[in-house]
Amino acid sequence: MVKGSFPVDKLRVVETPFYFYDLQLLKQNLEAAKTEAERYGYHVHYAVKANANDRILETIAKAGFGADCVSGGEVEASIKAGFPAGKVVFAGVGKADWEINLGLDNDIFCFNAESIPELEVIDELAAAKGKKARVALRINPNVDAHTHHYITTGLNENKFGFNMEDMSKVVDLLKTLTNVELVGIHFHIGSQITDMCPFQNLCVRVNEIQDFFEQKGFKLEHVNVGGGLGINYQHPNHVPISDFEAYFKVFHNHLQLRPRQQLHFELGRAMVASCGSLITKVLYVKEGTTKKFAIVDAGMTDLIRPALYQAYHHIENITSDEPFEPYDVVGPICESSDTFGTARMLNGTKRGDLIALRSAGAYGEIMASRYNLRKLPGVYYSDQD
Ligand SMILES: *Cc1c(COP(=O)(O)O)cnc(C)c1O
Repeated sequence: MVKGSFPVDKLRVVETPFYFYDLQLLKQNLEAAKTEAERYGYHVHYAVKANANDRILETIAKAGFGADCVSGGEVEASIKAGFPAGKVVFAGVGKADWEINLGLDNDIFCFNAESIPELEVIDELAAAKGKKARVALRINPNVDAHTHHYITTGLNENKFGFNMEDMSKVVDLLKTLTNVELVGIHFHIGSQITDMCPFQNLCVRVNEIQDFFEQKGFKLEHVNVGGGLGINYQHPNHVPISDFEAYFKVFHNHLQLRPRQQLHFELGRAMVASCGSLITKVLYVKEGTTKKFAIVDAGMTDLIRPALYQAYHHIENITSDEPFEPYDVVGPICESSDTFGTARMLNGTKRGDLIALRSAGAYGEIMASRYNLRKLPGVYYSDQD
């Protein structure tokens, strides 16, 4: 069992629980994504909802990526972090008027629109500003991502996006909306997808859908295939970088772009998950009748994924070299779902040891809450003194 190399002496004096971000690993991961995307001239927008930590956002902006936002707050944070507005896409089923206006005022790259009433409101608000809003239609490709049902989004009768059955009506409407310009089509099939088949199926569907728009006389500037590339949560030390090579290659091999058409992606998890760990201190080791519990000072309020999706995070005791033993690692919150792992092999654990919950850089810090009136987790960066 290989352990991560943490700067333990430095981490010992930081108030727990906190997120540790390895910025070097983040940069390596971004470099890998960039190299593989540039091979085909693809554009990647970072899905800000995965992690909107200031330094993470700034690092990703500096690396040259665009931003994929799902709220006005994310649009503001992205622009503040240095993402050019011309590389910001804005999705979401329920965009409020102020959020649409914010996008219009900043001349963002594109709104990913999800319903007919939304298109009408964008048109109306753009008209009031004498602008033409750039819009892509989010379409349900009806591709099953074979992932957890809470994070499957590309099936019909989903609150997200348009269904192809309604598309004739939508394109007729678009012809009457003078302040909306249709520039692309957008898809997103789900998250934590590690099998490339769903992405290949998506390509096949997109090719068919492209034929429809061509027949209707629309020339689309771009296709946006969303995100969803997964990471290896089981082996963070052996596989710290996502398989961007295989991912982009699927689209290169199976998606038929039209002349001069650009392909865009919205990756969240695969860009940031591996660089973050939640560091927590062992408060008590409780001996049950058949097992031992390591009760730690972090809970589901700091990292909700195990409680919400039964998600797996690799767990390490980073301050012990004692022989391995099984522990249930649990938090202090008054909910029995507040468990990070059962029967996990940790080096012999005692009060005061530091535990790392690995691969917590995506959907970790950003989902922290103050339930039970707990403090929000702190942050420590690898380049800090
Ligand atoms: C969440 C989301 C993404 C990013 O998903 P990941 O699985 O983190 O890559 C991309 N696009 C849209 C529309 C999303 O909602």
